[in-house]
Amino acid sequence: MGDPGLAGKAIVITGAGAGIGRVTAEQLAAEGARLMLGDIDADAAESTARAIRAAGGEARAQRVDVTRDDQVAALVEATLDAYGGLDGAFNNAGIEEENHKVAEVDEALFDRVMAINVKGVWLCMKHQTAAMAAHGGGSIVNTASVAGLVGAPRKAAYAGSKHAVVGMTKSVAAEYARQGIRVNTVCPGIIRTAMMERAIEQAARAGYASEEKQRQFHAAMHPMGRVGEAGEVAEAVRWLLSGASSFVTGHQLAVDGGLTAL
Ligand code: NAD
Repeated sequence: MGDPGLAGKAIVITGAGAGIGRVTAEQLAAEGARLMLGDIDADAAESTARAIRAAGGEARAQRVDVTRDDQVAALVEATLDAYGGLDGAFNNAGIEEENHKVAEVDEALFDRVMAINVKGVWLCMKHQTAAMAAHGGGSIVNTASVAGLVGAPRKAAYAGSKHAVVGMTKSVAAEYARQGIRVNTVCPGIIRTAMMERAIEQAARAGYASEEKQRQFHAAMHPMGRVGEAGEVAEAVRWLLSGASSFVTGHQLAVDGGLTAL
């Protein structure tokens, strides 16, 4: 993406029905990007697309389960059909893991976290790099986490999955650097979304700490003394997708209020 701005760029976003994906879609559309929004929750993806169109932006929605090769391929194909190319991708669909020590976690949960958070990102990059290489390059941003940079007690599978996203990102960045495709991650700290709320409720139910105590703990984990907002992650994604970051690839961009600085 030589042009520093995102106006007219064709960008695919997964997990666009809620949270970080939805807010990022809204911010990219406001800059004039043309979006293909994928989510396993088709109604949620369509609701994001409708809100963007109502605000004068360009967005289409398509149901995708990122663990399914044929569906990820179809999402990329739909983007090419709709917009004639693929300039950017935000591979953001992911699930959290409930707070449990490793001995208490079912094998099935481990497999599910890996399928969505790791295989999902791998399948997205597999199909997107092929499409971008055929159209002169592009920029891919994968959502990892601070749990991709440091450990996350009681979330070993989740942390493993996000470390895997970092490893895949570095590898694919090196593979495609000479074909004009840049690949980076954003690594959010705790961000105020439905995912964060579910995690707080579950940990309270499991008796780890009251909801109030957890909110205080979450804020205190970040040197800035607060959790982050989805829009703050979106801003980092916007920069990585744009030509303004033209010499940045294989990088992990922490958006974490200083959490990993300590
Ligand atoms: P969210 O739960 O609010 O939204 C995630 C979206 O992904 C949902 O719309 C969901 O339907 C979709 N999704 C789930 N499984 C899918 C699948 N198989 N195929 C397609 N779509 C699927 O979560 P969020 O907080 O916005 O998180 C987005 C990303 O950010 C995730 O990868 C998450 O791990 C990461 N993250 C979140 C936080 C946080 O504190 N919220 C922190 C670090 C990283």
